[in-house]
Amino acid sequence: MTMEILLALGSNLGNRRVILESAWQEIGNLPEIKTLRISRFYETQPVGGPINQPEFLNAVGIIITTLPPRRLLEKLQEIENRFGRVRTEHWGPRTLDIDILLYGNEVILTPTLTIPHPEMLHRRFVLEPAAEIAADTVHPITGQTIREHLHRIK
Ligand code: ATP
Ligand code: CA
Ligand code: CA
Repeated sequence: MTMEILLALGSNLGNRRVILESAWQEIGNLPEIKTLRISRFYETQPVGGPINQPEFLNAVGIIITTLPPRRLLEKLQEIENRFGRVRTEHWGPRTLDIDILLYGNEVILTPTLTIPHPEMLHRRFVLEPAAEIAADTVHPITGQTIREHLHRIK
């Protein structure tokens, strides 16, 4: 059985569209990962973090992988770093952010990795692109679909 994994991608520095497109390609170039589908790119006003930072471009993609969750996170962080992400302030501007939203039905609660991503149900910029490509996917904790969660925050 192969688990479907949902990733959130975001960028608000540099050529955001090119960054998201190339990041998605790099993810698919990893031998352990197969990219299945990515949503359109959504313009989003930044939430939290410093004021006056540029708008985000956000997307959600579906992959399958043989990598366990922690190894997957490491690989994704390597890609973030290759795009020149510098970690300064929390929620500050970044060239590339990749979060693991869902890893099949797995629930993981550790200091450095939380799956499902704890904020995903509160963020329109995550639920909207996620609903475009995975509306019927069920959140393993709430038991409700992405579509239901999106309607809830509308
Ligand atoms: P948020 O998680 O609220 O979207 P952020 O993406 O800006 O904030 P980062 O600075 O990118 O936060 O990540 C901080 C740490 O979050 C990472 O080093 C990683 O260890 C941890 N983390 C925990 N759960 C996840 C997850 N599901 N996906 C990605 N990183 C995670
Ligand atoms: Ca994030
Ligand atoms: Ca992140």
